[in-house]
This record gives sequence, C-alpha cells and structure tokens, in this order.
Amino acid sequence: MSASQTSDVSPSDVPTLLVKIFGKDRPGITAGLFDTLAAYSVDVVDIEQVVSRGRLVLCALVTEPTVASQGELRATVHSWAESLKLQAEIISGTGDNRPRGEGRSHVTVLGNPLTAEQTAAIAARIAEAGGNIDRVFRLAKYPVTAVEFAVSGCETEPLRTALAVEAHTIGVDVAVVSAGLHRRAQRLVVMDVDSTLIQDEVIELFAAHAGCEDKVAEVTEAAMRGELDFEQSLHARVALLAGLDASVVDKVRAEVRLTPGARTLIRTLKRLGYQVGVVSGGFTQVTDDLKERLGLDFASANTLEIVDGKLTGRVTGEIVDRAGKARLLRRFASEAGVPLAQTVAIGDGANDLDMLNAAGLGVAFNAKPVVRKAADTAVNVPFLDTVLYLLGITREEVEAADGGEELLH
Ligand SMILES: [Mg+2]
Repeated sequence: MSASQTSDVSPSDVPTLLVKIFGKDRPGITAGLFDTLAAYSVDVVDIEQVVSRGRLVLCALVTEPTVASQGELRATVHSWAESLKLQAEIISGTGDNRPRGEGRSHVTVLGNPLTAEQTAAIAARIAEAGGNIDRVFRLAKYPVTAVEFAVSGCETEPLRTALAVEAHTIGVDVAVVSAGLHRRAQRLVVMDVDSTLIQDEVIELFAAHAGCEDKVAEVTEAAMRGELDFEQSLHARVALLAGLDASVVDKVRAEVRLTPGARTLIRTLKRLGYQVGVVSGGFTQVTDDLKERLGLDFASANTLEIVDGKLTGRVTGEIVDRAGKARLLRRFASEAGVPLAQTVAIGDGANDLDMLNAAGLGVAFNAKPVVRKAADTAVNVPFLDTVLYLLGITREEVEAADGGEELLH
C-alpha cells in the first residue's frame, strides 16, 4: 500500500543509519550497542527488538553522524559485535519507518497446532485484502498456539469476512478486531452459561433426576426445528419437572462441570479489572451458585418456582430469552458504567445472537454454524481461556494473574 504522508512524519530526507544486530541473546547487549553509538552523538529514531529461541534481532535506527566519523562508527560497531560473537549490519538511508497505512486491525490466529500451511493461507488472504503485516508476535503457546498480526492498509470488516471463510476452510480460529483504544478499554465480559461457561445443559441435568430426559430432548428438538420459540420450549420443559423434590437443586449444582479454562478466564479478567457476568436461559438456582463460587459481578437467569419443597413446573419473574439476554447485557453495562461498545459477549446458541450482536465484540464459542456465521469471531477449541487472546491478553499476563501479582492496566 502506498503510504500517504501525514503531517506528524519526521522529515524523510534526514540521513539515518539502520544498525541491525543478530546473535545469541544475553543481558547487556542493548547497553553495549548504545554505549558504542553514544561516542558519535547520534539520536535514536526507533528501536525494535525480538528474541526467539535465545536468538536476538536488535534494530536501532539512528541519525547519521558527521561524514567524517561515519567510517569510524561502522568499524567500532563491527568490532564491538565481533567481540561478543554477534553479527552486525549497518545500512545507510534516509528518514524514519514508512508510516503505517490507514485501516488497522488485530488479527489473532489460534491453532492447535498452528501449521506453516495454515499460517501461509492466512497471510496470503491478508495480502489479497490489501493488508500489510506490520508486526507479528506470539500471545501464547498454551493451551493453543496464539499469534497476533498487526495489519494495516485495509478495512477491518472485509478482512474479517475474508479470513472467516479461510479459517473455516483450513481449521483454525481467527479473530479480526479493529485496532484502537477501545480494545484495551473493554471492561465487561458477559457469558452465556449452558455449553459456554459450563459443559452441561442445566435443564437436562434436572430432567435426568425427574426421569424425563427423553421428553425434554423431544421439546428441545422441536424448538430447534422452529416449531416452538424459546419461551414456549422453556415452559414446556420446565412443566415436565413438576413435583421434583427441591433437594435436587443441590445435586444439580454439584453435577455442573465448568468448561476447561473457565476459572482461568474469569480469574484473569478480574485481575485485569474487568467486570464479568453471566446470563442464562437456565435457572438462577444454578447461576447464583456459579456467581458466588466464581466471584462474578452479575448473574441473571430464569427462576424455577419452588413451593412446599417441590418444583411446581413453572418459572417466576422476567423470562430470560434471546431478547432478554441482550437486554441484560445492556443493563449490566449500564450498571458497570461501561459503554456497550466496550463490552464482550460470549455464547454458543441461537438465543445468544442478539447479545453477541449488541456487544462491542461478540464471540461464538464452539457454536452452532448459524451463530458462528453471525458473530464477530468464533472460537472452536474447547478452552474458554483462549478468549483472553482475542482481547490481546498474553499468556504471560494470564500466568502473572495466576501468581497473584497485581497487574496494571
Ligand atoms: Mg448455551
């Protein structure tokens, strides 16, 4: 992409030297290089450094010294590098880095493993979309390999569309989010519960105790075929639980299995200052317990009516359905003092779609195809903590949170 010059670019005709150092990393190399350069009174224009498997690439872009001392600078830098068994390359030129193009996005790629072939395909689609990869770095190697590309020169939306198709074809997860301050400012994460925060469908756990699993499954299938809407299917399924002893609630709470990575996700978000909530078409009898156990800020769901120690087969209060979930996201955002554009919603089902669309970033988690297509981004690996990488949070930050260190944000 041809760079359109902007006013804040330093004059492009200033002579500069690019000093590149490559070799085995150890403490003191940066100090040594700049100590060497200091003798020539050059100014720093840019410094970039990468260490990969113990090998360092250090690039220093500095103003050119006087003509008389240039040869001496080159000789001194080379002899310093040789003394440390490093390679040095010094390239004369003019000006600063080319300014990054307009239209900036973060592309996160999750692979398990991530193959060279997949990486080639993603990079090729970025190039076809007119995007330039400005920077690449690894966010995590566990539980998946997560790499982030900083891309400029193309609009976020068409890039997302192009990469979503490619990701599906080659079997990786790709998230494309617009670069900008709002990404770091995201401060509220709201999750669905059944098959998102937990591996189970809570109604099925209750149905197993009531001995009506098959009937509940029939209603669920009818709803999936579109013969019943969510509210109708909720009432029909809850009615099958009528007469069940209320002591079953404790049993169901104990049976609930968290999704792998759920605790890590929530703990890390909390440490980083996020507020975290859940909304569920299931029941407060379970979500209130999850809120307590996981230290969540918000939880809302339907409530099973219990009279004289028995489930009545009815729900009380406001129904949490597809529209209700989006309404609750807005309510939580308002209570948390977070603009809707800075919220993240995570869900797997059709009744999460309004919430995923209302949020600043909607993440389809191991979702049905219809949800995956409609969401901003999809995660298809079974680890909930991988959502952190979509927010640009690195594994190192996750582990720092595990270690109980306070993180600044
Ligand atoms: Mg669900």
